[in-house]
Order: sequence, then C-alpha cells, then structure tokens
Amino acid sequence: MGYNIQVLCFMFLVSMEASVLATGTTPGIQDIFLGRCLAYQELLKPYPQTEVNCKTLWSTFNTSFAGKEPCSLTTKDYSDFIEMSLTSIPEDKAMFWSGTYRVAHDYSESGKRFITLEDTLLGYIMNGLTWCGQKAPPGINYQSCPPYNGCPETASTAFWGKASSQFASQAKGTVIILLDGSNPARPAYSTESYFAKFELPSLSPTEVKMVDVYVVHDINKPYRETCENGTLPTLQQAIKDHGIDYRCQDNPQSILHLLCVDSPGSVLCRMMKRFHRNNITIFG
Ligand code: NAD
Repeated sequence: MGYNIQVLCFMFLVSMEASVLATGTTPGIQDIFLGRCLAYQELLKPYPQTEVNCKTLWSTFNTSFAGKEPCSLTTKDYSDFIEMSLTSIPEDKAMFWSGTYRVAHDYSESGKRFITLEDTLLGYIMNGLTWCGQKAPPGINYQSCPPYNGCPETASTAFWGKASSQFASQAKGTVIILLDGSNPARPAYSTESYFAKFELPSLSPTEVKMVDVYVVHDINKPYRETCENGTLPTLQQAIKDHGIDYRCQDNPQSILHLLCVDSPGSVLCRMMKRFHRNNITIFG
C-alpha cells in the first residue's frame, strides 16, 4: 500500500515536471503571427517602414522550420524570412539591452523614443513566441520543443542570433545599450549574451560613431558593477577594439525617473524629487 502511494506520488511529480518543461509551439501561432504583422503595419506604425505582405511572410517563416528537426536548424534556414522583414533603423535610434528587458522597453516607448529589436516588425511579431518543427505531419510540434540550450548552439541561436546581428548591422550614429549593474546572478556585460556574441560584432564602425552604455541599478539594491569596475572596462575595451567610441553612465537621470515610477517612496526617489523641486541637478 505504502509502496503504491510512493509510486503514484513519483508519477504525479514526473508528469507535473513534464508539463512545466514541455512547452510546444505557441498554440495559434499562425493567427498571432498574422495579427501582429497586420497590427504593426496598420495600427502601430512606430517609424517609417516598408510594407510587407503578412501572408507571404508567414509562409516564408513556416518554410524556415516546419517539417525540420529543431536541432538541425542554422541561421541559413531563417535567412529568407529575416531578409524579407528587414527595415532600416533611423540614425541615433537603435537601442540594445542585456538583462534589462523591462526598463529598456519602458524607455524605448514602443519605438517612439528608441528602437529595440522588439520594436521592429520582425522582433514585434516573434517576441515571446515558441516554435519548433518535426518531420511528421503537421510539420509543427505543438507538444514539446527542446528547452533553451537543448540543441547545439547553432540551432538554439539560429533565429535570435541572426535577427540580432541583422538588427545591429542596421544601426547608425549613436546607439544605446542598457546593462544590469545590480544582478548578483550575472555580470553586467556577459560575453555569453546575444549582445556580446551577435550585436556588438555586427555594429558597423563606419556607421556607428558612439556606443552609450547605461548601467541600470535597481532602486534600493547595491551597485554591484558600475562604469568603473566589474565587466564594464572589458566592454569599453571591446568597443574601442571594434573602432567605435564609448561613453558610460550609471543610472542616468532619464532611467532613474523611470525606475522611480515603481518606487516613488524610496529615499533616492524622494531626494531626487526634492532636488528637482529646487532646480538642483544631482545625477547624470
Ligand atoms: P538576455 O540575457 O537578457 O537574454 C535575452 C533573451 O534571450 C531573453 O529574454 C530570453 O528570451 C533569451 N535567453 C537568454 N538566456 C536564456 C536562458 N538561459 N533561458 C531562457 N532564455 C534565455 O540578453 P542578451 O542575451 O544580451 O540578448 C538581448 C539582446 O539580443 C537584445 O539587444 C535584443 O536585441 C536581442 N535578443 C532579443 C531576444 C528576444 O527574445 N526578444 C532574444 C535574444 C536576443
């Protein structure tokens, strides 16, 4: 009896874990894809873009992965799809992020202030989706896709790696990168990040004049890394070696104001408000 209960408990836990881990292709992916594609072009229009036929774009995306084993994919599989949705980025507008998804997108204001990859047609359509193919019909696996890092790197970075490097290669003028200076679990500039592996190497030293690094520090958390220490000097060197000028600021005022929206009662935010009222600049 006791043994049976143990077996049942074990089976229950295994099935719980499987249901947590096994995420297949996002249900309704085609409808989401087409809806986002249309909404982006007809409603959002964040900046001048060339028009794309959404049905043709879906069919090109579908051909990239459907009917194929997920771990066999390479950037080449996504080339046509990415080329077709590519648009130019106005000068001084490109913004990158690494470990700072939320603040970066609050700041970019859906492409109105700055343009992240997710504010472009391609990134807007694909952001947050999961997809993978299979040889058997219907060619798309809705039950389970390999977990992150579950395939060789060539396959797991095939789409976002290519999309990131294409996006970065379009950047001109001054670009911004937002890094997290408060996370104990990862360095502000991680050489394993998409930013380090795909975006920085794809910036054109003739088109990009300056990289503005903003190190974001959570309100009320210690400054683990600043412009002067940790991994930031390594980033400075990497950018200089790439032939581009570098500037770095810790929590510039614009970012601090955004962070203070969520923590208006914190000492730092109250201090900033008081100084602001008295017209005194203390940050940035
Ligand atoms: P990051 O470490 O914050 O990771 C960015 C994204 O990669 C995460 O949101 C997640 O979707 C995925 N990711 C990374 N590590 C993961 C893990 N261990 N498990 C599950 N998912 C993981 O920052 P990054 O690597 O520097 O990438 C961000 C930059 O690259 C941005 O500038 C952006 O242009 C581009 N990018 C965007 C996405 C996206 O999903 N929108 C994904 C990859 C890269």
